[in-house]
Amino acid sequence: KMMPTNRRFLLERRPNGVPALADFRLAEAPVPVPGDGEFVVRTIYASLDPAMRGWLDDAPSYMPPIPLGDAVRASTVGRVAASRNADFPDGAWVSGLGAIEEYSLAQAGGFMRRVDPDAVPSPSNYLSVLGAVGMTAYFGVVDVLAAKAGQTLLVSGAAGAVGSLVGQIGKILGCRTIGIAGGPEKIARLTRDYKYDVGIDYRGKDRVTLEREIRAAAPDGVDLVFENVGGDILDATLSCLSPHATIALCGLISEYNSPEKIGARQLWQLIVHRASIRGFLVSDYLARFEEGGAQMAAWMQEGKLRFDEHIDHGIENALPAFLRLFDGTNEGKMILQIGEP
Ligand code: NAP
Repeated sequence: KMMPTNRRFLLERRPNGVPALADFRLAEAPVPVPGDGEFVVRTIYASLDPAMRGWLDDAPSYMPPIPLGDAVRASTVGRVAASRNADFPDGAWVSGLGAIEEYSLAQAGGFMRRVDPDAVPSPSNYLSVLGAVGMTAYFGVVDVLAAKAGQTLLVSGAAGAVGSLVGQIGKILGCRTIGIAGGPEKIARLTRDYKYDVGIDYRGKDRVTLEREIRAAAPDGVDLVFENVGGDILDATLSCLSPHATIALCGLISEYNSPEKIGARQLWQLIVHRASIRGFLVSDYLARFEEGGAQMAAWMQEGKLRFDEHIDHGIENALPAFLRLFDGTNEGKMILQIGEP
């Protein structure tokens, strides 16, 4: 009988700029054997997140860098394939912090929790609307921005996994929503699928042009900003704020592949508008995930929340699938399917 092997997507070298194939290696290893209290998860879905780019660098962050030679860390959904832990029986569905590999060893009290596959249209939803992405959108809008009816909410990366949910939550709460995204197709989806009042295409536009278009969409200024991108988009936004505006700094994807960071060059505008900017991490809200998950599930059931997933297949496609996040060819939450349910 053939021994099953564990195909693993390993970090070989720290990328310089845009990650390249030579920075990684697809290796075969024996399937891990669980020790006392441990269990083995067969990975079905791996979440591909912009933040993973930061973990590839040897730089201080909110999580340690992925060690060279280790499988690339990722949130995953999978099923228990072997277990010496009664709380995680064979076949159980789980989600948590795993890696891009076919089998992961998990410990009791670790980052894996059981999930109910029958409570959702697809178990992959635990990586999108009911996972970190959904919680980022929910707590960013409800807690960091404390959005109120009648306020104007501007979102960058508006057609993406987080941004598409941010716009819809803002709309549910009664905000006027303006989304910024790249290309005519995504702009069409902003108003059609994600209920944005206005869509702005940033492609090929400099800061001054963007500023003009934001001001036209929000003549009285923007009260709330959910920032996912940075660079010219953030700079243009800073000049279009209303007095005492609030900016939730969620991400800066436009500079994740740049060794030299761009930063905010219109900080003065925070003074002009007496505005505040606050960075946040979804992990700060772990204790409230149940509340956030229940609300997102309720909105889903009421048909108020559309969410899209972009699923690519095959562990050998991990890098091209990941790079979609940076060229914008992902249409929804980027997920890599590496095993069959
Ligand atoms: P996503 O938005 O589904 O995918 C990334 C999108 O970013 C792309 O589709 C592309 O859309 C846009 N993009 C890429 N490079 C760009 C550039 N140079 N300029 C402008 N737009 C660019 O990914 P996501 O998972 O939802 O993440 C969105 C943001 O949220 C990221 O910044 C991420 O780091 C952040 N995030 C933060 C937390 C937290 O706890 N703080 C948690 C989750 C995610 P276009 O086609 O429109 O260009």
